[in-house]
Amino acid sequence: MTSIEKEQIAGFLDLTNDYLNSGYQTIHQVYNFSDDSCSQQNTENPENTDSLEIISEEIKKCRNCPLGNSRKNAVPGEGVRNPLLMVIGEGPGADEDAQGRPFVGKAGQLLDEMLKAIKMSRTTNCFIANVVKCRPPNNGDPKPEETAACSFFLARQIALLNPKMILLVGNIASQTILKVKEPVGRIHGKFYEYKSGDLTIPLIVTYHPAALLRNIEYKRPAWEDLKILQARIDSIVLN
Ligand code: URA
Repeated sequence: MTSIEKEQIAGFLDLTNDYLNSGYQTIHQVYNFSDDSCSQQNTENPENTDSLEIISEEIKKCRNCPLGNSRKNAVPGEGVRNPLLMVIGEGPGADEDAQGRPFVGKAGQLLDEMLKAIKMSRTTNCFIANVVKCRPPNNGDPKPEETAACSFFLARQIALLNPKMILLVGNIASQTILKVKEPVGRIHGKFYEYKSGDLTIPLIVTYHPAALLRNIEYKRPAWEDLKILQARIDSIVLN
Protein backbone atom coordinates (compact mmCIF):
# COMPACT_ATOMS: atom_id res chain seq x y z
CA MET A 1 0.00 0.00 0.00
CA THR A 2 1.40 3.42 -0.89
CA SER A 3 1.72 6.27 1.60
CA ILE A 4 -0.99 8.21 -0.30
CA GLU A 5 -3.41 5.29 0.06
CA LYS A 6 -2.63 5.09 3.79
CA GLU A 7 -3.24 8.85 4.16
CA GLN A 8 -6.57 8.48 2.38
CA ILE A 9 -7.66 5.65 4.68
CA ALA A 10 -6.60 7.55 7.82
CA GLY A 11 -8.52 10.61 6.59
CA PHE A 12 -11.58 8.48 5.82
CA LEU A 13 -11.49 6.93 9.31
CA ASP A 14 -11.31 10.40 10.90
CA LEU A 15 -14.23 11.55 8.77
CA THR A 16 -16.33 8.51 9.70
CA ASN A 17 -15.53 9.09 13.36
CA ASP A 18 -16.51 12.76 13.09
CA TYR A 19 -19.89 11.97 11.58
CA LEU A 20 -20.62 9.19 14.07
CA ASN A 21 -19.65 11.36 17.04
CA SER A 22 -20.93 14.80 16.12
CA GLY A 23 -22.53 14.73 12.69
CA TYR A 24 -20.04 17.14 11.13
CA GLN A 25 -16.45 17.18 9.92
CA THR A 26 -13.69 18.67 12.08
CA ILE A 27 -10.03 19.40 11.50
CA HIS A 28 -7.47 16.71 12.24
CA GLN A 29 -3.74 16.32 12.28
CA VAL A 30 -2.02 16.14 8.91
CA TYR A 31 -1.21 12.52 8.17
CA ASN A 32 1.98 11.90 6.34
CA PHE A 33 3.27 8.40 5.90
CA SER A 34 6.55 9.47 4.42
CA ASP A 35 8.37 6.49 6.01
CA ASP A 36 7.30 3.95 3.41
CA SER A 37 6.91 6.42 0.55
CA CYS A 38 10.64 7.13 0.64
CA SER A 39 11.52 3.47 0.32
CA GLN A 40 8.87 2.81 -2.31
CA GLN A 41 9.17 5.78 -4.59
CA ASN A 42 12.62 7.24 -4.19
CA THR A 43 14.22 4.66 -6.44
CA GLU A 44 16.78 7.13 -7.80
CA ASN A 45 18.23 7.57 -4.32
CA PRO A 46 18.45 4.13 -2.68
CA GLU A 47 20.85 5.28 0.11
CA ASN A 48 18.12 7.72 1.15
CA THR A 49 20.46 10.70 1.41
CA ASP A 50 17.81 13.14 0.40
CA SER A 51 18.52 16.80 -0.39
CA LEU A 52 16.66 19.80 -1.76
CA GLU A 53 18.78 19.59 -4.90
CA ILE A 54 17.85 15.93 -5.47
CA ILE A 55 14.17 16.79 -5.01
CA SER A 56 14.46 19.70 -7.48
CA GLU A 57 16.08 17.47 -10.08
CA GLU A 58 13.36 14.82 -9.63
CA ILE A 59 10.66 17.48 -9.96
CA LYS A 60 12.20 18.82 -13.17
CA LYS A 61 12.16 15.31 -14.68
CA CYS A 62 8.77 14.31 -13.24
CA ARG A 63 6.02 13.08 -15.57
CA ASN A 64 3.87 11.43 -12.88
CA CYS A 65 0.79 13.42 -13.89
CA PRO A 66 -0.37 15.27 -17.04
CA LEU A 67 0.89 18.65 -15.73
CA GLY A 68 4.43 17.42 -16.37
CA ASN A 69 3.74 17.41 -20.10
CA SER A 70 2.05 20.80 -20.44
CA ARG A 71 4.41 22.91 -18.28
CA LYS A 72 7.25 25.06 -19.62
CA ASN A 73 9.25 24.89 -16.38
CA ALA A 74 8.69 22.97 -13.17
CA VAL A 75 8.75 25.17 -10.05
CA PRO A 76 10.30 23.28 -7.14
CA GLY A 77 10.39 26.27 -4.76
CA GLU A 78 13.02 28.62 -3.39
CA GLY A 79 14.31 30.21 -0.23
CA VAL A 80 16.65 29.55 2.66
CA ARG A 81 17.45 26.30 4.46
CA ASN A 82 16.09 25.80 8.00
CA PRO A 83 13.66 28.67 7.46
CA LEU A 84 11.63 30.34 10.15
CA LEU A 85 8.66 30.13 7.81
CA MET A 86 7.69 27.88 4.91
CA VAL A 87 4.94 29.38 2.75
CA ILE A 88 2.95 26.91 0.67
CA GLY A 89 0.72 28.06 -2.18
CA GLU A 90 -1.36 26.32 -4.78
CA GLY A 91 0.68 25.96 -7.93
CA PRO A 92 2.60 27.96 -10.52
CA GLY A 93 0.80 30.47 -12.74
CA ALA A 94 1.97 31.75 -16.12
CA ASP A 95 4.80 33.91 -14.73
CA GLU A 96 6.09 31.15 -12.48
CA ASP A 97 5.87 28.63 -15.34
CA ALA A 98 7.89 30.98 -17.55
CA GLN A 99 10.62 31.57 -14.93
CA GLY A 100 10.66 28.29 -12.98
CA ARG A 101 10.34 30.27 -9.72
CA PRO A 102 7.44 30.42 -7.22
CA PHE A 103 5.30 33.52 -6.63
CA VAL A 104 6.97 35.91 -9.06
CA GLY A 105 3.81 37.38 -10.70
CA LYS A 106 1.48 40.04 -9.23
CA ALA A 107 0.29 37.74 -6.42
CA GLY A 108 3.92 36.89 -5.69
CA GLN A 109 4.88 40.55 -5.43
CA LEU A 110 2.06 41.05 -2.93
CA LEU A 111 3.17 37.95 -1.02
CA ASP A 112 6.69 39.43 -0.78
CA GLU A 113 5.19 42.67 0.60
CA MET A 114 3.07 40.76 3.12
CA LEU A 115 6.13 38.85 4.29
CA LYS A 116 8.21 42.02 4.49
CA ALA A 117 5.60 43.54 6.80
CA ILE A 118 6.39 40.79 9.32
CA LYS A 119 10.16 40.90 8.71
CA MET A 120 10.24 37.84 6.49
CA SER A 121 11.60 37.24 3.02
CA ARG A 122 12.58 34.43 0.72
CA THR A 123 16.19 35.67 0.80
CA THR A 124 16.64 35.74 4.58
CA ASN A 125 14.31 33.46 6.53
CA CYS A 126 11.57 31.87 4.37
CA PHE A 127 11.14 29.08 1.87
CA ILE A 128 8.32 29.32 -0.68
CA ALA A 129 6.79 26.31 -2.39
CA ASN A 130 3.52 25.05 -3.83
CA VAL A 131 1.43 21.90 -3.48
CA VAL A 132 1.82 21.28 -7.21
CA LYS A 133 5.10 22.02 -8.90
CA CYS A 134 3.83 22.38 -12.47
CA ARG A 135 1.33 24.89 -13.87
CA PRO A 136 -2.27 23.67 -14.23
CA PRO A 137 -3.45 24.73 -17.72
CA ASN A 138 -5.54 27.94 -17.93
CA ASN A 139 -4.87 28.67 -14.25
CA GLY A 140 -7.41 26.02 -13.22
CA ASP A 141 -7.35 24.33 -9.83
CA PRO A 142 -5.02 21.33 -9.68
CA LYS A 143 -6.93 18.04 -9.67
CA PRO A 144 -6.76 15.77 -6.60
CA GLU A 145 -4.70 13.21 -8.53
CA GLU A 146 -2.24 15.99 -9.47
CA THR A 147 -1.82 17.17 -5.88
CA ALA A 148 -1.50 13.52 -4.83
CA ALA A 149 1.22 12.91 -7.43
CA CYS A 150 3.17 15.91 -6.07
CA SER A 151 2.65 15.25 -2.35
CA PHE A 152 5.75 13.07 -2.15
CA PHE A 153 7.94 16.03 -3.19
CA LEU A 154 6.33 18.48 -0.79
CA ALA A 155 6.52 16.08 2.17
CA ARG A 156 10.25 15.58 1.53
CA GLN A 157 10.84 19.33 1.21
CA ILE A 158 9.09 19.96 4.54
CA ALA A 159 11.05 17.16 6.23
CA LEU A 160 14.39 18.53 4.99
CA LEU A 161 13.62 22.19 5.63
CA ASN A 162 12.07 21.60 9.06
CA PRO A 163 10.63 25.14 9.20
CA LYS A 164 9.65 26.63 12.54
CA MET A 165 6.21 27.42 11.09
CA ILE A 166 4.17 26.68 7.96
CA LEU A 167 1.86 29.24 6.34
CA LEU A 168 -0.71 27.86 3.88
CA VAL A 169 -2.11 30.46 1.50
CA GLY A 170 -5.46 29.88 -0.15
CA ASN A 171 -8.06 27.15 -0.35
CA ILE A 172 -6.15 24.61 -2.40
CA ALA A 173 -3.05 24.54 -0.19
CA SER A 174 -5.14 24.49 3.01
CA GLN A 175 -7.63 21.88 1.89
CA THR A 176 -4.92 19.66 0.42
CA ILE A 177 -2.60 19.74 3.40
CA LEU A 178 -5.18 19.84 6.20
CA LYS A 179 -7.43 17.41 4.31
CA VAL A 180 -10.55 19.46 4.96
CA LYS A 181 -13.28 20.91 2.77
CA GLU A 182 -13.76 24.18 4.67
CA PRO A 183 -12.82 27.35 2.80
CA VAL A 184 -10.05 29.61 4.11
CA GLY A 185 -12.68 32.01 5.48
CA ARG A 186 -13.59 29.39 8.11
CA ILE A 187 -10.16 28.10 9.08
CA HIS A 188 -7.73 31.05 8.81
CA GLY A 189 -5.92 32.62 11.73
CA LYS A 190 -5.89 29.50 13.94
CA PHE A 191 -3.01 27.15 14.61
CA TYR A 192 -2.95 23.57 13.41
CA GLU A 193 -0.14 21.03 13.36
CA TYR A 194 1.71 19.42 10.50
CA LYS A 195 2.82 16.02 11.78
CA SER A 196 5.06 13.61 9.94
CA GLY A 197 7.23 11.00 11.64
CA ASP A 198 9.09 12.82 14.44
CA LEU A 199 8.21 16.24 13.03
CA THR A 200 5.49 18.43 14.49
CA ILE A 201 5.38 21.87 12.91
CA PRO A 202 2.84 24.59 13.82
CA LEU A 203 0.81 25.64 10.84
CA ILE A 204 -1.50 28.56 10.09
CA VAL A 205 -3.78 29.37 7.16
CA THR A 206 -4.51 32.68 5.47
CA TYR A 207 -5.99 34.06 2.26
CA HIS A 208 -4.12 33.68 -1.01
CA PRO A 209 -2.51 36.96 -2.14
CA ALA A 210 -4.37 36.59 -5.47
CA ALA A 211 -7.64 36.66 -3.47
CA LEU A 212 -6.47 39.88 -1.77
CA LEU A 213 -5.85 41.40 -5.19
CA ARG A 214 -9.39 40.47 -6.26
CA ASN A 215 -11.16 41.45 -3.05
CA ILE A 216 -9.87 44.21 -0.79
CA GLU A 217 -12.10 42.97 2.08
CA TYR A 218 -9.70 40.09 2.71
CA LYS A 219 -6.78 42.42 3.47
CA ARG A 220 -7.75 43.13 7.08
CA PRO A 221 -8.25 39.47 8.15
CA ALA A 222 -5.08 38.46 6.27
CA TRP A 223 -3.12 41.13 8.13
CA GLU A 224 -4.55 39.89 11.44
CA ASP A 225 -3.45 36.35 10.51
CA LEU A 226 0.08 37.57 9.76
CA LYS A 227 0.32 39.35 13.11
CA ILE A 228 -0.75 36.16 14.91
CA LEU A 229 1.86 34.23 12.94
CA GLN A 230 4.58 36.77 13.70
CA ALA A 231 3.83 36.70 17.45
CA ARG A 232 4.04 32.89 17.46
CA ILE A 233 7.30 32.86 15.52
CA ASP A 234 8.75 35.50 17.87
CA SER A 235 7.82 33.34 20.86
CA ILE A 236 9.36 30.24 19.25
CA VAL A 237 12.59 32.08 18.44
CA LEU A 238 12.87 33.65 21.90
CA ASN A 239 12.31 30.35 23.76
N1 URA B 1 0.00 31.28 -6.99
C1 URA B 1 0.43 30.21 -6.28
O1 URA B 1 -0.33 29.60 -5.53
N2 URA B 1 1.70 29.86 -6.40
C2 URA B 1 2.58 30.51 -7.18
O2 URA B 1 3.75 30.11 -7.23
C3 URA B 1 2.10 31.61 -7.90
C4 URA B 1 0.81 31.99 -7.79
